[in-house]
Amino acid sequence: MSLLVVGSVALDTVETPFGSVKDALGGSAIYISAAASYFTSPVRLVGVVGDDFPKEHIQFLESRQIDIDGLQIVRGKKTFRWGGKYHYDLNVRDTLFTELNVFKDFDPVIPSTYKTSSYVCLGNIDPLLQRKILRQINRPRLVVGDTMNYWIETKPAELAETMKSMDVLIVNDSEARLLTNEPNLIKAAKKIIKIGPRIVIIKKGEHGATLVTEETIFSAPAYPLENIFDPTGAGDTFAGGFIGWLARTDDISVNNLKRAVVYGSTLASFCVEKFSIESLRELSYLKVHDRFLAFMDLSRFDDER
Ligand code: AMP
Repeated sequence: MSLLVVGSVALDTVETPFGSVKDALGGSAIYISAAASYFTSPVRLVGVVGDDFPKEHIQFLESRQIDIDGLQIVRGKKTFRWGGKYHYDLNVRDTLFTELNVFKDFDPVIPSTYKTSSYVCLGNIDPLLQRKILRQINRPRLVVGDTMNYWIETKPAELAETMKSMDVLIVNDSEARLLTNEPNLIKAAKKIIKIGPRIVIIKKGEHGATLVTEETIFSAPAYPLENIFDPTGAGDTFAGGFIGWLARTDDISVNNLKRAVVYGSTLASFCVEKFSIESLRELSYLKVHDRFLAFMDLSRFDDER
C-alpha cells in the first residue's frame, strides 16, 4: 500500500564516544522512508532542502525507489541542520544546535499523486506543518505521528491539536513524561490516549518499546547488540519499520501491530550499528526477516517443566 512520509531532511553533525560525522545525511523523513522502503512501495516523501543538499543523497533516495516529487529544493537557502552529542550511556544525548534554515518558511504542498496515500507517517517536524499536510490528504487508513522534546517544549498547544488527528503516537520515554507530566510510562501512555491517538508506542532506547492501547499492553525488547556506534535516527527508523510493515500487510489488527513493533525494533537495531543512514543502504528483506526471527527467540518461553 502507498505510504506518505513527511519530516525533516537534514545534514547532521553527530558525536558519539565511538566517532563523529559532519553534515551526514539525516532527518526524520530520511530514516523513516529508507526503513519503510524495505517493506512497501510506493514510499512518497514530503520535505524541503536547500540548494546545498548534495546530489548523492538524492541518488540514494532514488536508489531506494522513494518518490521525491514532494521534496522541495529551495534556491539560495540552506538545508536544515542538527547537531547532537551522545554520552557514554548512549541513551543520553545533548542537542548541540538546531538550525531550521529552509524549514522556517516551509509551506508543504502535496503533489496530487500523493493525496490518496493510505498510510501516513508524520515524522518529527513542527506540529503545525504536520497538520497542514494532513489537511491535504484524503482520509488515510492510518496516521502515525512522531514528535520530540523541541516541539513539546516550544509548541505544546499546536502539538496537542495535531495529536487529535493521529491514530498512533510514537515517542520516547522522556518525551512521554515531558508531554504528560507523569513519571509512570503506562499512566503517561493512557494520558496521551485521552488527548487523541488510540495507540501509543513508547520507545526506551536499548530497553525496547512498549505499545499501549485502551485494552492492550505489549512490550518488545531491543535487540542485544554488542556494537552500537550511533543511535541517531533509531526512533525514526523504528517508526519507518513499524508503518512500513503495516502498509505492506494492510492489516491493523492488534496482532499485526505487535509484529510491526518488532519489525520497527528490527530496523532500528540495524540503524545503530553504523553512523548516519549507512546501514540502511545495504539491507535486504531477507536480512531483516532473519533478525525478526531472532527477535522472536529472544523472549519466547513456555511453562512446561
Ligand atoms: P531520532 O534519533 O530518532 O530522535 O532522530 C534524529 C533525527 O532527527 C536527526 O537526523 C535530526 O536531523 C532530526 N531532528 C533533530 N531535531 C529536529 C527537529 N527539531 N525537527 C525535525 N527534525 C529534527
